[in-house]
Amino acid sequence: MSRFLSSRFAALEAYTPGEQPQDMEYVKLNTNESPFPPSPEVIAAVSAAEVGKLNLYPDPECKRLRRKLAALYGVGEENVFLSNGSDDILNFFFMAFCDAERPVAFPNISYGFYPVYAQLYNLPATVIPLREDFSLNVEDYCGLHQNIVIANPNAPTGMVIPVSDIEKIVQTNPDHVVLIDEAYVDFGAESCRGLIGQYENLLVCQTFSKSRSMAGGRLGFALGSAGLIADLNKIKYSTNPYNINRLTLVAAEAAVDSDAYYRENCKKIQANRAYTVEELAKLGFTTLPSLANFIFTRCPGMDGGTLYRALKRRGVLVRYWNKPELKDFVRVTIGSREQMDRFLDTVQTILKEG
Ligand SMILES: *Cc1c(COP(=O)(O)O)cnc(C)c1O
Repeated sequence: MSRFLSSRFAALEAYTPGEQPQDMEYVKLNTNESPFPPSPEVIAAVSAAEVGKLNLYPDPECKRLRRKLAALYGVGEENVFLSNGSDDILNFFFMAFCDAERPVAFPNISYGFYPVYAQLYNLPATVIPLREDFSLNVEDYCGLHQNIVIANPNAPTGMVIPVSDIEKIVQTNPDHVVLIDEAYVDFGAESCRGLIGQYENLLVCQTFSKSRSMAGGRLGFALGSAGLIADLNKIKYSTNPYNINRLTLVAAEAAVDSDAYYRENCKKIQANRAYTVEELAKLGFTTLPSLANFIFTRCPGMDGGTLYRALKRRGVLVRYWNKPELKDFVRVTIGSREQMDRFLDTVQTILKEG
């Protein structure tokens, strides 16, 4: 820290992204990326001709892509907001809707970025514990009269709450914004986006980073009432109107056109998830019920950090957390069948060597 940093950020603890090591080729199961490449149409869309237009600013309204997403999800174009990754949308949510009078609530075990944004904007945050089995008690959020952010499926557990529970939360907090972070919804969970026509206080955010193989392209989107989307645009146009670059825009338009390709990939991930959970059970692991492209699993007699280090030494990257409630687990991204076999073989080797 230099002596120039504003004192309001002195105590801020920044988010720590999963490692992206460059020292060797790992079986990379630590940041929930897709093992599949973008669709052939996406690869073709990022053409020399498009690169040749980089002297021109991109369309700040992202009209073509918004139209395509609106058609895909059966909502109006005025209900779609696009931004530079869904992290950017989370940032705008905290900036736009939360303050000392309108605090924010989220679960104690969830995406690690929520408390960072709360701290960044100096917000009073209500951190609500999950139950001991990592399930969310919907009653804790009903009639809370605060803004609320919930990841569904949750991270790093992969567990879900039903859309009927989300509707209860949205209904009983009519004067506050409820943000449902659906980064992992395409891997078998049900989206609540069908509710946005009925509730002006519901915001849903999704990303092209996981199910659409575009983590490197940085694109997230939000679906919500026209009023909420207008508020997000006000913030966007007050910070960085061109926050999605041309190449990402053309890639994403092609990605929406190849929806069937990505749905197929998501099915493969779901099959690999079931396979991995089953094989781990044979080795004595306990795995939380996940509908995401990762699992949260516990090795008998070995804490998460120990297993993480043993796997990394052998070229397999996973993630673990040093929190007391999470320290027994590792989070493992579900990749290709070959990657999961490498992971499972390596786990077996580690267990044999004791
Ligand atoms: C990965 C993830 C995001 C961020 O995704 P980007 O679109 O890549 O910024 C948001 N929320 C959750 C819960 C995630 O796991």
